Amino acid sequence: MGKKHVVLDIGGSKILGAVMDEDNTILCRVKKKTKPELGAEAVDGRIRDVVAELMQKCALQKTDVEAVGAGAPGVVDTEKGLILFSPNIPWREHPLGPNLERLLGIPFIVGNDVNVGILGEWKFGAAKGFAHAVGIFAGTGIGGGVVLDNKLFTGSRFAGTELGHMILNTEGPACNCGQRGCLESYTGKHAITREIRSMIARGAKSDLLDSMDPEDATVKSSALAKALKAGDPVALQVMDRVSYYLAAGIGNLINIFNPEVFVLGGGVTEATETWLMPAVVKYLPLFAWPAMLSEVSFRASALKDDAILYGAKALVLENAH
Ligand SMILES: [Zn+2]
Repeated sequence: MGKKHVVLDIGGSKILGAVMDEDNTILCRVKKKTKPELGAEAVDGRIRDVVAELMQKCALQKTDVEAVGAGAPGVVDTEKGLILFSPNIPWREHPLGPNLERLLGIPFIVGNDVNVGILGEWKFGAAKGFAHAVGIFAGTGIGGGVVLDNKLFTGSRFAGTELGHMILNTEGPACNCGQRGCLESYTGKHAITREIRSMIARGAKSDLLDSMDPEDATVKSSALAKALKAGDPVALQVMDRVSYYLAAGIGNLINIFNPEVFVLGGGVTEATETWLMPAVVKYLPLFAWPAMLSEVSFRASALKDDAILYGAKALVLENAH
């Protein structure tokens, strides 16, 4: 019998975990709050608890598990298991991998969550079988990842590839990163919420902001999807603008990387996919060079919410020694 993998999607608000068998079937799942306010060591303890619960749920012994793979937010040195910096968990030069190996007695391999997401799509999902893949994940933030020549590209100090912070307009809206006019400042959920709010302030009628996402006080992706389906003029206008800027960002990336496949994923994309994908495709010829565009397959994420979990398994397969 082949060995199992424990896979984790560690976010600023929750930790999602699963056990995956040798055929990449998910056998059981566990979800727990991250509680970053309790401190770095406490979060490590909660990650250990998620793994322990998963192993109990699937009746696994330590010897049944080859390794734990994880995607986590921040700048991650996968080789050393070190989180150099995380924006939403108080990890600074934090030895997450070694700590968890000590707590669990199982090898623990960690990578940046968005990079792990594209790795998942490349190994098991929408970009499977392609050597050159680029992905954008649109949600509260805009993340992105790049696989070049069958290898994840993370830059010289693991901080690449912040595709959501490419600057589209130097005089654009302020972005969370401190710059102006980044792709995220036009297409992230805070930007979408800001545009809806501004239309309502100018007199447009919309109930899009009646119930907000409790996690980040932004419009709910499900509400956007519903409004688009119903032909709500505010949703249509705001998301048309989002598609235009997404196409600008994606067009840049297609021109720079000349990928065989481009994957668009993330919470907003997933909820509004049937509307958003064709809208982006419509605008792509304005930005991508024709010769590049005709060669690229433009696809929605295949793994959806589980992209990071599958990517965590891919990370283990790529990095196990
Ligand atoms: Zn930015």
